[in-house]
Amino acid sequence: MHPVRRILIVGGGTAGWLAACYLAKTLNSRAPGAIAISLVESSEIPGVGVGEGTFPSIRGTLSAIGIDEARFLRTCGATFKQGIRFVDWVRAPGGDGIDHYFHPFNTPSQRPGAPDPLPYWLLGDAGAGVPFAEAATMQKRVADAGRAPKRIGDPDYQGRMNYAYHFDAGRFAALLAEHGQSLGVQRTIATVVRAERDEAGDIVGVETREAGTLVADLYIDCTGFRAALIGEAMGEPLRSVRDTLFVDRALAMQVPDDRADAPLPAYTISTAHEAGWTWDIALQTRRGVGYVYSSRHSDDARAEAVLRRYIGPRADALTPRLLAFDAGWRPMQWKRNCVAIGLAAGFLEPLESTGIGLIEIATYLVAHLLPPDGDFARIAPRFNEAMNARYARIVDFLKLHYCLTRRTDSAFWRDNADPASIPASLRDLLALWRHRPPHRLDFVTDLEMFLPASWQFVLYGMEFATDPAALRPMHAQSARAREEFRMLRAVAARAVDDLPPHRALLDALCADPPRARVQA
Ligand code: FAD
Repeated sequence: MHPVRRILIVGGGTAGWLAACYLAKTLNSRAPGAIAISLVESSEIPGVGVGEGTFPSIRGTLSAIGIDEARFLRTCGATFKQGIRFVDWVRAPGGDGIDHYFHPFNTPSQRPGAPDPLPYWLLGDAGAGVPFAEAATMQKRVADAGRAPKRIGDPDYQGRMNYAYHFDAGRFAALLAEHGQSLGVQRTIATVVRAERDEAGDIVGVETREAGTLVADLYIDCTGFRAALIGEAMGEPLRSVRDTLFVDRALAMQVPDDRADAPLPAYTISTAHEAGWTWDIALQTRRGVGYVYSSRHSDDARAEAVLRRYIGPRADALTPRLLAFDAGWRPMQWKRNCVAIGLAAGFLEPLESTGIGLIEIATYLVAHLLPPDGDFARIAPRFNEAMNARYARIVDFLKLHYCLTRRTDSAFWRDNADPASIPASLRDLLALWRHRPPHRLDFVTDLEMFLPASWQFVLYGMEFATDPAALRPMHAQSARAREEFRMLRAVAARAVDDLPPHRALLDALCADPPRARVQA
């Protein structure tokens, strides 16, 4: 055991460069120059090249590493994201009833002293047929109206609405690489062919094809699905959750669309299909579209036909890229002097854009747990416990999107509703919520990536039924709750008027130099 003076990150995708930037910024601000951070990446092994939807935490990360918002938006062709619109998840297309629901990033508005809106929404006090996200937040109306979450002149990374981004993953990694080097990260282009370990099991060096052997005190594995260190060298296995989350393949396409009048939704559109779902993400000059599906329920040719039908004639000249994955994570992500971040640590389908969010969490934990004396055995169990808890809860949250479906039109949906495929932890919560609505005390919020509000938006977006008998005592405040719902509608209407159109704000912020006004 000796003090940590050199950290080597292996892999230069989003995980590698995000970790490099964050560690360089935070560790060097504590003790400038005390820890040398270097990154080695292969020019021969391509990164996964997807990962375009993010979580609001990305704003804090970008701000912490010191990239200004306009530069980020311009360089990465980015757009704003205010949530996810789920289409055809409750029932198959053509059925009676509402065909979509919205999961916004804003939490329900509740003024001091006002009642919790959820029970009153369940009682119908917001009006018949008004979705929960619309009754309880301004954001659904703002997003539906094509408005941006912030105004020109609002400080970087701050808005009137909670927000994240969509961006081009390749351009994002390139921006981080440039920025990381300006923060002092040493970059080597070389392919790691082998990691050498000592008798105790620590890595003592990684041998590269082009640059000899690279040596460090801590090795961070960001080699993507390859998991060259944590998997191949350290032998840590993946815990698969394929019996719960069935999808294991994706077909992805980049659909050019630079029409100035092309729709530019400030939300991801997730549409359910016979054996999975499509993501549809509008960037400034193209759409990123992909079909994530279960190979047990569809072959690749059939999946490609589903994707082409969804995109329409614009897909005719395009060839999709196929990605195969196994849903799961490594329970031991930090072992001795090796820690994995990103796809090397695990991957859960991108339904709620958790991939980059988990990279942010892991990076933050490494930076803040790092023992200066190099006693990794002391903190590795804490790291692993924190990451395991997060992955497990995300699995439950993702399964929530599937298991409440009323779709019976294909084996994929029937299998998803089979109780045997639902983790016991989620089954218990659903049983509880049949008799009373979710409460914040049902969640260990420190270990949750998703706040209780997110569970409520999905639960009631999927038309889950809570026994009305449980809500009867709440009637006392119905009049006050109705008034609150009415006021929120008025505030939301004003917000729609006040906020600029999504595209107009992007045009202003991405002009070089950024314009101080949004053009009408
Ligand atoms: P990669 O991007 O694969 O990078 C691996 C790096 O390691 C590359 O630079 C490669 O050259 C290098 N490398 C590999 N082997 C070696 C070696 N031997 N020597 C040297 N270098 C090596 N996440 C989200 O947050 N939102 C989304 O919307 C989203 N959508 C996704 C859709 C799909 C279909 C998939 C599969 C993933 C998605 N993700 C999403 C996850 C997201 O893409 C990843 O979390 C993110 O890109 C990080 O990837 P990575 O850096 O771990 O791996």
